[in-house]
Amino acid sequence: MEAQRRRDTGPEKLLRSELHRLGLRFRLSYPVPGAPRRTIDVAFTRVKVAVFVDGCFWHACPDHATWPKNNETWWRAKLEANRIRDRDTDARLAAAGWLVLRFWEHEDAQRAAGQVEAAVRRRACQ
Ligand SMILES: [Zn+2]
Repeated sequence: MEAQRRRDTGPEKLLRSELHRLGLRFRLSYPVPGAPRRTIDVAFTRVKVAVFVDGCFWHACPDHATWPKNNETWWRAKLEANRIRDRDTDARLAAAGWLVLRFWEHEDAQRAAGQVEAAVRRRACQ
């Protein structure tokens, strides 16, 4: 369920098409080292840049997080667990030499793509 929900969301598609437009090539749903079932949304494997597009609800964006009133305790625990998992994913990737870039789904795709491009090109020159 997690995998289906997270693939091919509108904001991620938008970012991907911007990245294509910039001539960048990348892998989708690339496995996170040492973390079975977790994947990188958009991965630049050669330069080790990992890009995530986080949904405002599921990842509890500070601007748009909403807290369901039904089963409030369960939802809080669930969303908090998501946040902790995100931080753990970031730490694992950093330990394996990856640069992690996270964007919120509400962020402008063109601007995000520009930041990704800059990071990829910078690391390609290192
Ligand atoms: Zn948001």
